[in-house]
Amino acid sequence: MGIAAALGLSALAEHDNKKRREREAAEREQREKEREVAKAARRAAVATIECARREADVAAKRRDVRGFAEKTLTALCLLFNISRPPLHVGDDVDNFASDGSRILVNPRWAIDVLEKHCPHAACNRDVLRWFIAHEVGHHMNGDAFTPPWIGAEKVQNHVQELRADYVAGFALAYLNGHVEYLDSVLREHATIESDTHPDFSKRMRAAREGFYAAQLEARA
Ligand SMILES: [Zn+2]
Repeated sequence: MGIAAALGLSALAEHDNKKRREREAAEREQREKEREVAKAARRAAVATIECARREADVAAKRRDVRGFAEKTLTALCLLFNISRPPLHVGDDVDNFASDGSRILVNPRWAIDVLEKHCPHAACNRDVLRWFIAHEVGHHMNGDAFTPPWIGAEKVQNHVQELRADYVAGFALAYLNGHVEYLDSVLREHATIESDTHPDFSKRMRAAREGFYAAQLEARA
């Protein structure tokens, strides 16, 4: 290859890099704006969020998983200033999921997990909240629609899971919950990392980071 051709290519590459950097900066700015809007909405909706949280607790006392999930989803959508996705509750779901448009909950699976890991009602409520909020995290981040990172699917899966864990931790703090109740559940379900999920220590760290970020924001 001649020098001129090489220079032409490198100028092209430089141009592409500049465009990419500009696009990334614009995306960062957009995300920052969205965060600020969501933060303002949280402040404005704090009483309504608390009301939905209390209604969810009433449903939990009746052992009504569907009612609890409905009210919790309402609180989470107010918290993150997003439109409410439909909720599907049924035994045809593996456990909990977000399919890109809906939040899916298997109440039997949820009750089995709670009976095994939670010694009291507050733990039941917080673990259930956390499961739903984790799926809302996937929903908000558009994970079901993100094209696969060819050759790096495991890294992509782990990034998406930790982001959803962060969102769920964040939500727990705003819903007056305790992030430490998750420890036992995650220890069993993510003892070691898999192709789809990181191990429990990374997941607990992400959940705690979200939890403390929300506490800081709420105090500010
Ligand atoms: Zn997930």
